[in-house]
Amino acid sequence: MASGTCQCGTFKFTVEGSFADVRYCHCSKCRRGNGTAFTANARIRKSQWTLDGPPDKVTEFEHKPGLFKAFCSLCGSPLYARSAHDPDDIRVRLGGFEGILDVRITGHVWTSSKATWYEIEDSIPCYEQAITG
Ligand SMILES: [Zn+2]
Ligand SMILES: [Zn+2]
Repeated sequence: MASGTCQCGTFKFTVEGSFADVRYCHCSKCRRGNGTAFTANARIRKSQWTLDGPPDKVTEFEHKPGLFKAFCSLCGSPLYARSAHDPDDIRVRLGGFEGILDVRITGHVWTSSKATWYEIEDSIPCYEQAITG
């Protein structure tokens, strides 16, 4: 089991089982949302996910029709992203988890939107847009 918290500790979250589609995402929304060159995120089944904390302190931002990014209203830490078209899965950011995560990054995605000031210098496959699977 993997577990983590938001920055202020209002929310604790856990994931049972393994992470899928583990990516570095360079899209402009991830860059803006995190203030960094890219995010590290993964897909899980919603049934693997537990979020402990006050529901009224979760803010969901609809960044595209039907696509929501949720964050802690108190500290701004990302909690999960969900799609109305794919209600059984969510995506989570890896940075909030503690300890050793059993994951391997399988791609840089949305490199077409990559920050001009960041160079990819590893051998992980690059994809201009999103990929599935
Ligand atoms: Zn928080
Ligand atoms: Zn992204």
